[in-house]
Amino acid sequence: MKLSDNQQDRAQKIIKILRKATISMTDPAVSQVARAFGKDPFLILISCLLSLRTKDTISLPISLKLFQLAKTPQELLVIPRIKLEKMIHSVGFYHQKARTLHAVCAALLERFDGKVPYTQAALLSLPGVGRKTANLVLAEAFGVPAICVDTHVHSISNRLGLVKTKTPEQTEMALQKILPKKNWIEYNPLLVKWGQHICVPVSPFCSRCALASLCPRIGVKKSR
Ligand code: SF4
Repeated sequence: MKLSDNQQDRAQKIIKILRKATISMTDPAVSQVARAFGKDPFLILISCLLSLRTKDTISLPISLKLFQLAKTPQELLVIPRIKLEKMIHSVGFYHQKARTLHAVCAALLERFDGKVPYTQAALLSLPGVGRKTANLVLAEAFGVPAICVDTHVHSISNRLGLVKTKTPEQTEMALQKILPKKNWIEYNPLLVKWGQHICVPVSPFCSRCALASLCPRIGVKKSR
């Protein structure tokens, strides 16, 4: 592993390896929703909000169940809060998330004619929507180049030494400097899959990692 290698070149090598190595891994929940529902921006936004601080294996079935009942802001607003909380109670923070879902639907109807906006600024103006969600919606629903930095992207990019950052926002800015725009959308699903299967948060599987020869394992105290 040569840390002196140009970071842009290292990033390209890493992406190339991950494209092959992740091919048979399950897609992240939001990508599955995007594929199943023809990139419907509203459903992608709702599935992003439900997946915050919750494992995909829990949030995906709940999203799919909810979408059987509601596929538009109007339909979701009609579901009483108590019923909505019961439907999504397995996801973390379900009280708050139920409130957020209703508030987002109301805001979409009031300010955006019931449609999900396609600029980062407008998305960030919605209740409960931060940069991670806004960028994921831009990328998955609208194909707009954006780097969604979740816990996997932040942690693995630091372990790999591609960035040296403390916060997801710093990671996003640093990655924008070393990744060409053509790679921004794919970077999140590649690293999410890697983080779910190999570079897991605690004790990553370095001994069977396809990136091992490129990785300085920064901050990794224990590995398998
Ligand atoms: S070598 Fe270890 S720390 Fe580096 S990417 Fe692979 S699993 Fe993660």
